[in-house]
Amino acid sequence: MQFIDLKAQQARIRDELEKSYLNVLDHGRYIIGPEVLELEDKLSDYTGAKHVISCSNGTDALSMALMVLGIGKGDAVFTTAYSFYATAETILLTGATPIFVDIEKSTFNIDVNKLEQVIDKTIAQNKLTPKAIMTVDLFGLPADYKEIRRIADKYDLKIIEDAAQAFGGQYFGESTCNLGDIGTTSFFPAKPLGCYGDGGAVFVNDDEMADVLKSIRVHGKGADKYDNIRVGLNARLDTVQAGVLIEKLKIFDDELDAKTNIAKKYGEYLSRYVDVPVFEDGYKTALAQYTIMVRGDERDELSAHLNDCGIPTMIYYTKPMPLLKALDDYGYKAEEFPVAVECSKKCLSLPMHAYLSDDDFAKIFDAFDAFYSTK
Ligand SMILES: *Cc1c(COP(=O)(O)O)cnc(C)c1O
Repeated sequence: MQFIDLKAQQARIRDELEKSYLNVLDHGRYIIGPEVLELEDKLSDYTGAKHVISCSNGTDALSMALMVLGIGKGDAVFTTAYSFYATAETILLTGATPIFVDIEKSTFNIDVNKLEQVIDKTIAQNKLTPKAIMTVDLFGLPADYKEIRRIADKYDLKIIEDAAQAFGGQYFGESTCNLGDIGTTSFFPAKPLGCYGDGGAVFVNDDEMADVLKSIRVHGKGADKYDNIRVGLNARLDTVQAGVLIEKLKIFDDELDAKTNIAKKYGEYLSRYVDVPVFEDGYKTALAQYTIMVRGDERDELSAHLNDCGIPTMIYYTKPMPLLKALDDYGYKAEEFPVAVECSKKCLSLPMHAYLSDDDFAKIFDAFDAFYSTK
C-alpha cells in the first residue's frame, strides 16, 4: 500500500505522458515552450484567476508573491503557526518578520479570531509595518476567507494565499489559488496536482502585478532578457513538466471525486476511535492529506502499529513553525501556540489517493480495530 500512489496514476496515463515527452523532444523548446503557455491558460480556466504565472516550485511562487508586493526588512507578515517551513522561510528570505497566529483545531488553519488580536498587538508595539497576511489552506482545506478579507480590509493588508496543498479546493464556489490578492501553488510530485520534478504557479487578477511577476520570473527582465530592470529570480517551469501537468489535469477532477469518497469512508469508520476531519458546508478540500487526531496520547504507538501492518503514515507536522530551530532568534514560546502544539502531538496522516482499493480499506480498518480493542 502506498501513502500516495503515483505509480498507479502513471499507469493510467502512461501513453499520453510518453507522447507528451516525445513531443517536447521533437520541438525542442525546453524553456517556456508551447506547453507552458497552454498549461497557464488551462490553470486560469480551472481557477478563474485572470493571470497564471507558472514557475519553478511552490517556494519560489511564494517568494515571487512577496517580491511583487515589495515586502522586505521592517515589514510584518502574519501567518499560521502550522504549515510546512517554506511558508515562513520565504518571509524570512525577504528580510521581513513572520508573525505567527495559532490555529483552529477543527481545520488546522489560521484561527481568524486570534488573527485580529495579533495584528493589534504588533501595531501597538510599533516596531514593524504590517503588510500582508499569508494564509495556508492546510491539507487542501481553504481557510476562512470571508473573515480574513474583512480583517485585511480593516488593516489595509494584502492576502497571499499559500495554496501549495490546495489546488482543486473551493470556498463557497470560488477556487483555491484565487481566494486572496495573490495565490500560489506547488506541483511537487506529492501535491494534489503534481508533476515529475519541481514546479509551481502564481495566480493574480491584477494586470500590472502579472507583468511584474513575469519579469521577476526571468531575472527582472524588461523589454528583453538582457534589459534587467529589477532584481528577480530564475524561476521558470520546464516545458516537460508543463506537458506532464496538462495530462494530469485531465484526470484531476475524477481523482478528486474518488478521494472525496475515500475521505467519507474513512470518516464513517474511524470516527469511533479518533477525531476525523469535518468539512463544513461551503468548503471543498483538495485532500492533499487525510489527517486524523488521536484522543489520548497514543499517536506514536498507533503509527508504529499501522506501519507494522504495512500501512504507511506520516506526521504533518512534528513541530509548529515558530518552534523550529531556524526561528530560534525570534524567541517564540510553545505557550503562545497551544493548539498547534497539541496538533503536532496528536495528528496522523493516513494513505490518501484515488487508487486505494477495498482490500486496502479492509486492512486499514482491521488494523484500527485490533489497536483500539486493546485500549
Ligand atoms: C509544499 C509546500 C510549499 C513549497 O512548495 P515546493 O514546491 O516544495 O517548493 C509551500 N507551502 C506549503 C504549505 C507546502 O505544503
